[in-house]
Amino acid sequence: MVTSPGAPADIDPLVRRMRPFGTTIFAEMSALAVRTGAVNLGQGFPDTDGPTVMLTAATEALRSGHNQYPPGPGIPALRTAVARNQQRFWGLDYDPETEVLITAGATEAITAAILALCEPGDEVVCFEPYYDSYAAAIALAGAVRRPVTLRPDGDGRYAFDPAALRAAVGPRTRLVLLNSPHNPTGKVFTVAELTTIAAICQEHDIWAVTDEVYEHLVFTDADTPHVPLATLPGMRDRTLRVSSAGKTFSCTGWKIGWASGPAALVNATARVKQFLTYVNGGPLQPAIAVALDLPDSYYTGLRQNMQTQRDQLVAGLSEAGFRVLVPEGTYFATADISALGGTDGIEFCLSLPERCGVVAVPTQVFYDEPDAGRLLVRFAFCKRPEVLAEAGRRLAGLRPAD
Ligand SMILES: *Cc1c(COP(=O)(O)O)cnc(C)c1O
Repeated sequence: MVTSPGAPADIDPLVRRMRPFGTTIFAEMSALAVRTGAVNLGQGFPDTDGPTVMLTAATEALRSGHNQYPPGPGIPALRTAVARNQQRFWGLDYDPETEVLITAGATEAITAAILALCEPGDEVVCFEPYYDSYAAAIALAGAVRRPVTLRPDGDGRYAFDPAALRAAVGPRTRLVLLNSPHNPTGKVFTVAELTTIAAICQEHDIWAVTDEVYEHLVFTDADTPHVPLATLPGMRDRTLRVSSAGKTFSCTGWKIGWASGPAALVNATARVKQFLTYVNGGPLQPAIAVALDLPDSYYTGLRQNMQTQRDQLVAGLSEAGFRVLVPEGTYFATADISALGGTDGIEFCLSLPERCGVVAVPTQVFYDEPDAGRLLVRFAFCKRPEVLAEAGRRLAGLRPAD
């Protein structure tokens, strides 16, 4: 009898390097929300549609023959709009022909970049808690992650120890993966921190890949405005800057993202990307080109609405007795559960729907060192005010009686 080696039916067929990755925590907690009828502040997707001109442009594109494969690097109108947008907001110049690549969301851009840049055994430095796809992308490449921990300082801001960052970089380090504004903490990396990261990249001659999907969601009371790492001296030529339409235009299901950087980095990423999805979102690409060119007032309005929603959620959490780490940007606020008697975020989040009908996400699953995040949970505020108000009423039930 012929048997195929290593494939008996009773073992998990999944390759070993992917076995540590179960169903994402977001899917698990969203399913819990549906099962229990809880208000879902777990997964970070908006509950309203994006700008009408964008939706109209997509509908028109669908009806006017934009339904076949777009060009591999993305349609020229979108690449040009991506370049123009980065010039307008950050003063960064990219050639839409050779320095911009359209991808299936930021996720694909990051995964393709890691697969393109890392040999098996190479190392990727990232900050934890990290976005969950990073660890999986690094594992797919057979690379090794070297996390540097962000910890709340006395002022309720997350910070890292520069010595820990230096210690994480070694002879096998290929790149630093930086997410700012940062999910899940809402941290915006300061210019001083970016300067440290830039110096280390240059000293060790390593690449930077930046995930800036929240670039337009930094609040007016943040300590620092958002500063793309690529704008620091010497960094443009070693940084692949990644962003996407999902968060900026409330269309997370469209999965239109992009990478910009020096032609060699973009080209390397494109050569992997072409064999992952090839292309995506043909009729959506022209619509995102329209959205990117919206006037500054759109971007200001988005930020203002999100800041009002942040304030509403933070007030509700504080009244319920959480110690909230007020975010400077993004869709998310993290809160410490110890004042409410919590000792473990996973247990806390699993019992929260039953206790008060709200779903949150434990952040310890985004650390290699779970102790650093054991007491922290994340709430999303990219929800309509009435949804946040209902969540606030429910959370008030947690407040210990005085
Ligand atoms: C939402 C999110 C992404 C995913 O972006 P897509 O464009 O949907 O792939 C990537 N990074 C961070 C930090 C995010 O929050």
